[in-house]
Amino acid sequence: MKHLLSATDLDASTATLVLDTAAEMATLAGREVKKLPTLRGRTVVNLFYEDSTRTRISFEAAAKRLSADVINFSAKGSSVSKGESLKDTALTLQAMGADAVVIRHPASGAPHRLSTWVAGSVVNAGDGTHEHPTQALLDAYTMRSRLGRLAGLSVAIVGDVLHSRVARSNVHLLATLGAKVTLVGPPTLIPPDLRTEVSYDLDAVLPDADVVMMLRVQRERMAASYFPSAREYARRYGLDGPRMRRLPDHAIVMHPGPMNRGMEIAPEVADSARSTIVEQVANGVSVRMAVLYLLLGGKS
Ligand code: ASP
Repeated sequence: MKHLLSATDLDASTATLVLDTAAEMATLAGREVKKLPTLRGRTVVNLFYEDSTRTRISFEAAAKRLSADVINFSAKGSSVSKGESLKDTALTLQAMGADAVVIRHPASGAPHRLSTWVAGSVVNAGDGTHEHPTQALLDAYTMRSRLGRLAGLSVAIVGDVLHSRVARSNVHLLATLGAKVTLVGPPTLIPPDLRTEVSYDLDAVLPDADVVMMLRVQRERMAASYFPSAREYARRYGLDGPRMRRLPDHAIVMHPGPMNRGMEIAPEVADSARSTIVEQVANGVSVRMAVLYLLLGGKS
């Protein structure tokens, strides 16, 4: 595999190889010297056209732990039209000899375009409302490490599915790995094109869920009004303490961050023992190390 643009690029054996490699990478985190020489002399560019906290830092840490040279390029606020500026930037990166470009962009499909302009590998770190494949991989890794398996798990993905690249990538990857996904949210926020089960009733889904993945309500991507009020949204689709207690004992609660505490998730839930939110961030570094390692072949 040369690029990671979509979760659909991964078949079951490749996805499992990434998760197994990530598990090996994770053993490094416990060591005093958290570095491998594997990507010494290779250059990884982080090209971020949209805000990010976890993903950008995580890719930077991952590349550095593999001893790559890392260039961070934050392109937010550029006044050049998006297509042109992206192509010009691509040519610059090409001239600098980037071995891998990690790109986040507000336009769905931007990483695909970029992959036709550069010689190196392209990793999609989130494109518009389209996909975020490394998030799906780190989520799968977290589920597997907490619950011991992925095949047969019941996963409820709850909230603003319409604007969520995290949900889209998770639906694809979890289907590949044999989990059963139910999308839950108000009808206005459930896209019609994702082929998986749908429910509009969170309380009905919780007693059978192994995993509940809460999504951020993405107001910055909403041009219209999708629900009556924040209060009403939280009442019907927010995960609070009483709702959490309807879950089976072993069930976990996930959130990709950033959270709207008190809206889609109550602080009591976010900070509970069931929450894997901080673990997801830690696992993200190992998973991104695995992805960079496998794409760049570890050769110097
Ligand atoms: N951080 C995730 C993303 O970039 C989720 C979110 O923003 O709600 O897609």
